[in-house]
Amino acid sequence: MPIVGWTNPYTNRRHLVQDYVGMAKVMPREILDIIARKDVEDKVHIGTNLTVTSGIGCPRRLVIERFLPCYPNPQRLWAPMMGTKWHEVLAQEMKGKPGWVVEVNGGVKECEVSGWLFGFAMTGRMDARFEDDGVVLEIKDYKFSLSGADKFVDENWVAKPEHIVQLNALRLLLKQMGKVVSDNVGMVAWVVGGSWIPTRVPIKSEEEIGSIKVFGSKYTVHELFKYVGNSFARIDKGESPTSIAEGLPLFGKDMMKSRKGTSMCDSCAVKGDCMELGGWEEAAVIPFIKKERVVEL
Ligand code: SF4
Repeated sequence: MPIVGWTNPYTNRRHLVQDYVGMAKVMPREILDIIARKDVEDKVHIGTNLTVTSGIGCPRRLVIERFLPCYPNPQRLWAPMMGTKWHEVLAQEMKGKPGWVVEVNGGVKECEVSGWLFGFAMTGRMDARFEDDGVVLEIKDYKFSLSGADKFVDENWVAKPEHIVQLNALRLLLKQMGKVVSDNVGMVAWVVGGSWIPTRVPIKSEEEIGSIKVFGSKYTVHELFKYVGNSFARIDKGESPTSIAEGLPLFGKDMMKSRKGTSMCDSCAVKGDCMELGGWEEAAVIPFIKKERVVEL
């Protein structure tokens, strides 16, 4: 994400990254600095690189984050940042455990996968996998939630649709790379946040995961990948990312983020940038800032 500044969620004003005064009541400057630095250091989620999560979310957000100068709300970026830190801790703790491949164990490359899904070349990275005698028996993914793990898990502890898509995509790419993956491979998406909940991922084919509708969206994963892949292809050919983002539907509006009925847009870090692009006329009644949260600065 080319972060050039921040949106203050209490005032809706924009501030350049070095304007710590304007963001003084939003987040400590050291945390703002970490988020900005991590953004610059990210070598994976850049340009037109497709990853297995590119079609699990709002394509408009992806184009905005990758190509437009952004003023994100940093509070919306904190949970993913914490999630990344958790992954580093877990990888260190699992270092040296027999049979486990984690980033610090086999090296970052050992956790990376690449290949083709839905007609697009893409890469991915798994958190941990267990192998015995060269056969992959288990794949794990850790999902971090600041809102509490139990809120995101159904009574049967079946993984959420988006986790089913992601883990199966990683499994399929592993196989494409020539890895032997057990037909009964266990796939667990651990949801972490207050408590730890292991959610089971059923084995699905490429066609099956492509037909899943994540977050209650009216679009399938295959369709979302097409929107992203085609947008990226047009950008590669020299079309303006701004006009491409403008032309994309507001996918996040009908993607439900929580059982309380909040949408993906409510937790979108670049909602302000998205609204600037337009297309929100009919959504104008939805307030961007909750009134009770406005504070004097
Ligand atoms: S505000 Fe909603 S529609 Fe706009 S980029 Fe974010 S998630 Fe997508």
